[in-house]
Amino acid sequence: MTVTMPPTTCPPHTRPGRPTQQEQSMDHPATVFVATCDLAGQVRGRAVPFSDHASVARTGTGWVPANLAISAFGPIAPDNVFGSVGDLRLIPDPATGIDIPADGVHPGVRLYLADQTLPDGEPWTCCPRTFLRDALEDLRRRTGLEVVASIEHEFALGGLPDSRPFSLRRFRDAEPFGSDLVRLLEQAGLEPENWLPEYGDGQFEITLRPGTALEAADRAVLLKELVRDLARRRRLPVTFAPILDPAGVGNGVHLHLSLRDVDGHPVLFDPVRPGRLSATGSQFAAGILHHAPALTAWTAPSPVSFLRLTPHRWSAGGVFLAEANREALLRICPTTRIGGSDPAGQFNLEFRAADATANPWLALGVLVRAGLEGLTGDYQKPTVWPEDTKESDLADVPTLPASLEEALDALEADEVVGSWFDPRLLTTQLAVKRSELAQLEGLDDLARIRKVSDVY
Ligand code: GLU
Ligand code: MG
Repeated sequence: MTVTMPPTTCPPHTRPGRPTQQEQSMDHPATVFVATCDLAGQVRGRAVPFSDHASVARTGTGWVPANLAISAFGPIAPDNVFGSVGDLRLIPDPATGIDIPADGVHPGVRLYLADQTLPDGEPWTCCPRTFLRDALEDLRRRTGLEVVASIEHEFALGGLPDSRPFSLRRFRDAEPFGSDLVRLLEQAGLEPENWLPEYGDGQFEITLRPGTALEAADRAVLLKELVRDLARRRRLPVTFAPILDPAGVGNGVHLHLSLRDVDGHPVLFDPVRPGRLSATGSQFAAGILHHAPALTAWTAPSPVSFLRLTPHRWSAGGVFLAEANREALLRICPTTRIGGSDPAGQFNLEFRAADATANPWLALGVLVRAGLEGLTGDYQKPTVWPEDTKESDLADVPTLPASLEEALDALEADEVVGSWFDPRLLTTQLAVKRSELAQLEGLDDLARIRKVSDVY
């Protein structure tokens, strides 16, 4: 049965405050959920009655530091550095407010993403969203540059008939899920761009329009929750797990980045340089390539993430920068001049070694930090592999870590990357991820994939 969803009651980017007349009527959800996204990429938080909307907007709701140490599979990681003490506030950011609409018997909810602060409202330096904000602020202060970003997600729907990659049939088989999702994303202000049947079994991809880096990361958090919520209501099994079959293609998350100067002009494009990548772009890329092993401990942080990050899956087959190549860690994306479009504004770098088990604020934050190191430090100028590069030419490019264990060791060993974090945040990431590995110890790849797939 198709359930028609009523229009959302909350226009995007509505400021929480005094409830509007419409909100004072019964035409609003019963609850407001204030949420953060943690190191396991899980969205956790608390609901308050809608009548407390104004006060929660002002002063937030309570939260516990040790919640950051909760692993993907449930238990809190051993040696949690926060102990049993301390208190935080979750302060909702009005710009993130969306309504998940009521649908049949399922009530709606107003959802806000929040910054985690100390009880007096001071920023909490272990808050993942604050980490991204601070990275962007440092980039701005030291270089005058702003990041424009968008994040693509792949995921698999279960219970659909067999169908061919990219086929209209697969698109139609997933209806009305696809059309409802696109409408829901539009209503929520997430600006969907492409909704496509992908290559893998039951695989789909959704892309959103670019925005500021904070918007892009917020949207990545919200998008997954909207997809999961809609799929649950439609009784369609869904998973964003990085891989479902050790021999198959994975579900990637690709982060697209470009840089603008203070006047809003794009600075990555230079038509006379290799790959049309400007000197600034080359420096930014150098930082990401140099620190790649440690970065993957944040961007692909599940026990099965590295089954996806191997050659010939079009995920990321090695640590290199290349024009148009889908095996590259950093891909220089194509541009078009159709309709008089300006390539400079479209030109962007795509980081492909991420997946949906990552925290989007941290994933984007570490790329910004690494890029900033490249812009301000003394890094080796990277080779831009042209589009006609043969696979044999790439034989000597560095490989990515072969496992999460290796990525975590690389993170621990990389003092530059380590210096970006409050030590408690770094220690907690290592503890949470090692506890997730321990919880799946002894299982074969397929069993580990199933456990991860159940959570994501
Ligand atoms: N499924 C691939 C991945 O794991 C991406 C394929 C594509 O280029 O869209 O990243
Ligand atoms: Mg894709």
